Amino acid sequence: MALFFTLTSAAMAGCADRQPSKSCDNDFQWQIDRFADVNILRYQIPHWEQLSLRQKELLYYLGEAAIWGRDIIYDQNYRHNLAIRRVLESIYRGYEGDRTSPDWAHFEVYLKRVWFSNGIHHLYSTDKFFPDFSAEYFAALIEGTPLELFPSDIPATEGLFEYLSPLIFSNDVALKRVNQAEGVDMVANSANNFYRNLTQAEVQQFYAELRIPDDPTPISYGLNSQLVKENGEIFERVWSKEGMYGSAIERVVFWLEKAASVAENPHQQKVINTLIEHYRSGDLKLFDEYSILWLGVLHSQVDFVNGFIETYGDPLGYKASWESVVNFKDEEATLRTEVIGANAQWFEDHSPIDSQFKKSEVKGVTAKVINVTTLGGDCYPATPIGINLPNADWIRKEYGSKSVTIENIIYAYDRASIGNGFIEEFAWSDEEVERAREHGFLARVLHTDLHECLGHGSGQLAPGIRGDELKNYGAALEEARADLFALYFMMDTKMIELGVMTSLEVAHAAYDSYIRNGMLTQLTRIELGNNLEQAHMRNRQLVAKWCYHHGKESNVIERRVRDGRTYFVVNDYQALRELFAMLLKEVQRIKSTGDFEAGRDLVETYGVMIERDLHAEVLERFAKLGIAPYSGFVNPRLIPVYKQGQIIDVKVEYVEGYIEQMMRYSNDYSSLPTYN
Ligand code: ZN
Repeated sequence: MALFFTLTSAAMAGCADRQPSKSCDNDFQWQIDRFADVNILRYQIPHWEQLSLRQKELLYYLGEAAIWGRDIIYDQNYRHNLAIRRVLESIYRGYEGDRTSPDWAHFEVYLKRVWFSNGIHHLYSTDKFFPDFSAEYFAALIEGTPLELFPSDIPATEGLFEYLSPLIFSNDVALKRVNQAEGVDMVANSANNFYRNLTQAEVQQFYAELRIPDDPTPISYGLNSQLVKENGEIFERVWSKEGMYGSAIERVVFWLEKAASVAENPHQQKVINTLIEHYRSGDLKLFDEYSILWLGVLHSQVDFVNGFIETYGDPLGYKASWESVVNFKDEEATLRTEVIGANAQWFEDHSPIDSQFKKSEVKGVTAKVINVTTLGGDCYPATPIGINLPNADWIRKEYGSKSVTIENIIYAYDRASIGNGFIEEFAWSDEEVERAREHGFLARVLHTDLHECLGHGSGQLAPGIRGDELKNYGAALEEARADLFALYFMMDTKMIELGVMTSLEVAHAAYDSYIRNGMLTQLTRIELGNNLEQAHMRNRQLVAKWCYHHGKESNVIERRVRDGRTYFVVNDYQALRELFAMLLKEVQRIKSTGDFEAGRDLVETYGVMIERDLHAEVLERFAKLGIAPYSGFVNPRLIPVYKQGQIIDVKVEYVEGYIEQMMRYSNDYSSLPTYN
């Protein structure tokens, strides 16, 4: 719900007609590594020098808190991830054999992939990925590495190879991190570390029993714990300073305490202190309290996300992955979203949904553009480009939500993608390419603004509907709802009236790119033979394909083939806008009434299955371009300058490579035992 992930990094191009608020730095090296299906980029921190020393210090402390939680996400993703990562890192550090062979190169790629996905399962498909080296070579690597370099808390130091090789190489073990296939036990068949010895039915029953009927302020049961069955007894292991992940949380709290001491104002200090209290006890009521306070940090420039936030990693949507995003507000760019946010009620009133599902009063739409300074946990190295939090429905309804667009990340994507041939390959005409070059960046940021600032926060549930009725289809439908809202209003003359864009060409560029992506280009991120799993990807295909089918008679979107290449061309933007409106109305109805069956049918009919021949064609065309479909980022390094024990400045460095950063984090920020 709250994270808006990027389309393929290559889906944008061109210096936009409205530059983001930073200089075009052509000498800056945006892309620093490339392996498997991944690009590693750098992002810049614009306006850093304009911050006060106190703000820089605050950002530094929050950044440390972000990095210290890193081990948690590995363990959450799979209980053996830390063991695997640490053994691979030990080999990388100390292997005494040939480090120039092709096998060694394969080994490096595998390690880089483990870092990218925070574990052995693909970040997006959640399928286990396999090394391109053999188990025999792995045995030789272990053999050739001094024994004392391996972690001492793995329960099989003598037989490391026997112990680890099935986890890494076997086709039978832990094949999928998040299994949402219909008809399977999603708990038993998911490799994540959220449940032990439990069936899906047991988990659902456990949490159904906790729910208090008609509770107006329900806590997010299960959000911050592992659920375990032992000797017939089912209980939670809570993630807190005194509980599971305690040693990592203790470090996070240590740095949050320092941050609280240099907060920008008393309110912000209270926000941080409430989060600390929540971490100490694991009390979820305190987390809600913190979330509500966090919504109120309007007069601070520095802000952060830190905690167990998103539930995409749990097929049942109870358990949250740990993440952190440290940032400060980009004052100039924020003006754009403030204009949109200030008109929230106008958008709600003019939304093409049933009036019974409209909010009569849209509350608390805060809209801002931020630049991140440190990414952590589940947001590192792959990061969202927008955030909308908190997730608890009752808090959103009562207090609103905070939406942000991450400008420096979007900007880095844009810079890195210029001239790589991607749009030229998948756009039908020069005109479409030109439109993307000229308006693509603005189309992109405005779409994100509308999606995050207004889309997720719009609409309301019918009385008696809790919001979790759509179950495993909820996330994809929620993203569809926010996207459709953005797409519909993108082409409203109101946008011109508000001064955020000068011509509807921007909307046309947004429509071209949305259809191109939903029908074709996002398939570059999926292995041939697989279907769509990830909520955002399901949503995009759902929207594009639904419109393609429902506009077929009047040829709104046309499928064309030229030289064996397939294209989807928007013939009638106005008619497409009307289709977006129709679908938005239906998706809102589904959410508002909790119509599980209709929601499932929509997602299963349009959002899951991939046309195999077309997929093969897209992959072939894409492969020729040599572009990686996924991207991640290294963090800039924030380096405090001390004088007589006092921080007198914090410098930003952009020199660290991907391997260097990952190895440094693993060396200096190892906060958890290998098994938890
Ligand atoms: Zn979203």
